[in-house]
Amino acid sequence: MSTEPSPAADPGGCAHCGLPERGHARQWTEQAGWHAWVRPSPDQTRRRLQERRAARSDAPA
Ligand SMILES: [Zn+2]
Repeated sequence: MSTEPSPAADPGGCAHCGLPERGHARQWTEQAGWHAWVRPSPDQTRRRLQERRAARSDAPA
């Protein structure tokens, strides 16, 4: 299993669950438990952007 919550996660979303900071409040995930919004690492943001781009390239132009 990947550590990413979802391939469609917001690139700037929470490091644990991928939700945007606005409206995050407290969220629960199996891996992190209850947590406040956590800034994703630059590496994580980059990976999410790449995943988004890859998903988009699957769609017909
Ligand atoms: Zn979160």
